[in-house]
Amino acid sequence: RVKEQGKNNFQFYTPEMNEVVSRRMNLEIGLRKGIQKNEFTVHYQPQVDIPTGTVVGVEALIRWQHPKLGLISPAEFIPLAEETGLIIPIGEWVLREACRQNKAWQDAGLPPLRIAVNISSRQFQQSGFAEVVSRALKETGLESKYLELELTESIVQNSAHAISIMHELKGMGIFLSIDDFGTGYSSLSYLKLFPIDSLKIDQSFTRNLLQDSKDEALVHTIINMAHNLGLKVIAEGVETGEQLQYLLLRHCHEAQGYFFSKPVPPARISELLGEQIA
Ligand code: C2E
Ligand code: MG
Ligand code: MG
Ligand code: MG
Repeated sequence: RVKEQGKNNFQFYTPEMNEVVSRRMNLEIGLRKGIQKNEFTVHYQPQVDIPTGTVVGVEALIRWQHPKLGLISPAEFIPLAEETGLIIPIGEWVLREACRQNKAWQDAGLPPLRIAVNISSRQFQQSGFAEVVSRALKETGLESKYLELELTESIVQNSAHAISIMHELKGMGIFLSIDDFGTGYSSLSYLKLFPIDSLKIDQSFTRNLLQDSKDEALVHTIINMAHNLGLKVIAEGVETGEQLQYLLLRHCHEAQGYFFSKPVPPARISELLGEQIA
């Protein structure tokens, strides 16, 4: 709505639009300062080996406590960080922090875990990404076999470049997975071209697994496909014992979701693992 406010003076935004725009501007400015001001933290969500019920990995999920706006979901600020390019410093910070934390758990005598870090396409495609990863490992002392990078199907768009980077990362001994599998618009042919280790079944398929026969068919098919391709398969968004039971029956390897734990601060992971070895 364009409101006329006297001659040559138009107010283009409605109050609601103003609010959206100013929130966005606040977030964008805040993102720039957020790292220096230590406003970001990382929470970790356990990944469980289904047959044995042991925690074998954790996914690192960033959290942002904005000084004025409170806790902001990554679903809101990650897309903004991608648009503005700020995902590059933020993503590098998460990667390093996750590696540092994983090494600290190992040094504290906890059973070794694989740590999974989400990597956005823009970050993956920045020049020198493999060196950024290699530096994070070297500087934190974490062995590469304990690091997993979660990529999305969108990286397939630039496939020649992506494949060469993936080979470089594989050569370093890093574990690669496809996050939110089945929600991108890519053809399946990339599965034979890309040197990946695992598929993460998107939570939108897991959610109604037992109520919707189409979701069940998709989950079942993804698990079988992973088996046939020699890939590990993990289901995200597992919230009930019935869903877990189904996944066990279908030989899905791992599960992650509120049924086990929400993403939690690092101290809580130490407690969980401590209980596991006690
Ligand atoms: P994702 O990588 O698919 O992560 C899983 C999301 O599902 C997380 O949301 C997690 O808290 C949530 N979740 C886990 N279990 C359950 C469950 O049983 N039920 C339900 N309803 N949800 C569950 P979160 O932490 O809000 O993160 C949202 C997205 O933001 C992530 O989706 C990821 O795409 C992105 N993200 C988070 N941290 C980072 C990061 O450090 N870097 C990048 N590039 N993206 C990140
Ligand atoms: Mg993820
Ligand atoms: Mg993701
Ligand atoms: Mg996901």
